[in-house]
Amino acid sequence: MNDQPQSLRQLSCADDFDPNSMPVDKAREVIARFLSPVTTIERAHIRAALGRVLAQDVISPLDVPAHDNSAMDGYAVRFADLSGDGPATFKVTGTALAGAPFKGTLKADECVRIMTGAVVPQGADTIVMQERVEVRGDQVMIGGGHRKGQSLRRAGEDLKAGQTALKRGQVLRPAEIGLIASLGIGEVTVYRRLRVAFFSTGDELISIGAVPQEGQIYDSNRYTLYGMLARLGCEAIDMGVVRDDPKLLEDAFSEAAAAADVVITSGGVSVGEADFVKDLLNKMGEVVFWKIAMKPGRPLAYGKIGDAHFFGLPGNPVSVMVTFYQFVRDALLKLSGRDPVPPLPAFKVPCTSTLKKAPGRTEFQRGVLAQNAAGNWNVRVTGDQGSGILRSMSEANCFIILPTEQGNVAPGTLVEVQVMEGVV
Ligand code: AMP
Ligand code: MG
Repeated sequence: MNDQPQSLRQLSCADDFDPNSMPVDKAREVIARFLSPVTTIERAHIRAALGRVLAQDVISPLDVPAHDNSAMDGYAVRFADLSGDGPATFKVTGTALAGAPFKGTLKADECVRIMTGAVVPQGADTIVMQERVEVRGDQVMIGGGHRKGQSLRRAGEDLKAGQTALKRGQVLRPAEIGLIASLGIGEVTVYRRLRVAFFSTGDELISIGAVPQEGQIYDSNRYTLYGMLARLGCEAIDMGVVRDDPKLLEDAFSEAAAAADVVITSGGVSVGEADFVKDLLNKMGEVVFWKIAMKPGRPLAYGKIGDAHFFGLPGNPVSVMVTFYQFVRDALLKLSGRDPVPPLPAFKVPCTSTLKKAPGRTEFQRGVLAQNAAGNWNVRVTGDQGSGILRSMSEANCFIILPTEQGNVAPGTLVEVQVMEGVV
């Protein structure tokens, strides 16, 4: 297979897959071949950089920790002065606090009272935690059984000056923001945010505030899309509802492709509606329409309109979310500069429900992971699994992923789940 296809359209007919029953993995793989990440970089204060992607490695300007320091509240001693097993007596000659070091040098049979984080005094090589010490006036008695260097954090043991602390392509979570601050760095170089324009298509859709007439429904997809894009750190450009009218759609596609790196639409890719959208997009760019072997979310379009990537998601609210998480998420992360793109973690747990499933396509049922009375984690399915039932997504905390060949599932069977928390 060619790693650098020249044309999506060529690929759609010449490659070794059936566009009427495209396996999920295959569709992901094809999309991945067309994605080149943003290259524009900008500087951001570390707080403003939360959720952004690093565009340059962060190199530590210092040793972390900067000095040998104590990991415990206790006494700093010279290991040589401790006797093997019997008690030894030390004179307390001073105190070392975090931020207020002991200035002198430890001599034979002397110790220094030391607190967690304080610099280890000159001459000391071992910390004895306070619970292992008997204090008698200005002397302490220390029993046997100690190890040289115990309870001591070495300078540079976490990071050495000049070492890479964080790599380009990493997303900045609270841990990374804190780590950068611990190096004394206040600004980082990040990729610009990915711009994603989206609109809903459908003559039946009305916006919040309008009174629904017979057959009309409120547009919810723009809101789930907004939420999912915001969580991924994208700049979301909401272009509203566009009627099923070729001229209006053409204008909307052009405007979106000019304004954004990625264009996402919902609706208009199912049988009956797809043909005219297909003609339009084939005129404007290179777009392939697939019927993915999955449920929900069978029809999906992917391609380019000018320089912009295009994802045409199905109209049903659950299908929008499932196809977004299974195809669009990874693509957007890659385009945003994430490297590597972390896979959504999945693992197996027993399912307590009976699941209906026909072999032949991958299903993403909505599940609730919970602990039973014995403390073990199980999954059950949310109620009805219709692709229009958005409540099933709201009640769920995981997807239950049933592979292509899988049939009905009996209670007690191990099934694969993908946790939504932190993802959706
Ligand atoms: P379509 O893919 O356009 O045929 O739409 C499939 C189903 O999803 C239909 O029942 C539509 O009414 C519904 N639908 C399409 N777009 C939206 C939307 N933005 N919000 C809620 N439901 C939608
Ligand atoms: Mg429609």
